[in-house]
Amino acid sequence: MSDGFDHIAEGLAGVARGFHARGWLLGTSGNLSAVIQRQPLQIAMSASGIDKGELRAEQILSIDENARATGGGKPSDESLLHIRIVKERGAGAVLHTHSIWNTILSDTYAGAGGIRIEGYEMLKGLQGVRTHEHAEWLPIVENSQDMPALAEMIGETLKKHKDAHGFLLRRHGLYSWGENLAQAKRHIEIFEFLLETIGRTLRIREQ
Ligand SMILES: [Zn+2]
Repeated sequence: MSDGFDHIAEGLAGVARGFHARGWLLGTSGNLSAVIQRQPLQIAMSASGIDKGELRAEQILSIDENARATGGGKPSDESLLHIRIVKERGAGAVLHTHSIWNTILSDTYAGAGGIRIEGYEMLKGLQGVRTHEHAEWLPIVENSQDMPALAEMIGETLKKHKDAHGFLLRRHGLYSWGENLAQAKRHIEIFEFLLETIGRTLRIREQ
């Protein structure tokens, strides 16, 4: 593999270990990707079923736009979702976490179709957001094991909510992305912070 791929793979493995340490990628859950080249599309993608706390750069695969591993290995089951996000948003990296708070809130707010997040200073960590008065709509998509169908649903959701920086899959997890890996990582950290804040606030109010 090229130096460019090795550098990207090291970056993805480092982010995976960091997210695992925070409890966002337990039990081999979640997945990470970054674009290597766009024409033709080639994406660095975490392999399926790997413990993200021990993920090494050698376990990052290269996949094409049909989610086929070009150098062997089995890429994550959710590769088609990453590819759809890359195409719809022009993203350079896509990250997916399974935290406790994103799982809880993806169900709590499913009836509303999403979560409106407004008035928090941390919103300014999302690309293009300049004030805490920003209202971010985080759509919630019903979960499915039919990946081509789910990729279609996500494509429609992204077209409908052009300003969204991420979305939730119900009772499943969070997806966010960025122009590059650093921005995607920042977006995940911002959303995880905001979702935990919202969840804990609901609990305090109930007491
Ligand atoms: Zn997942």
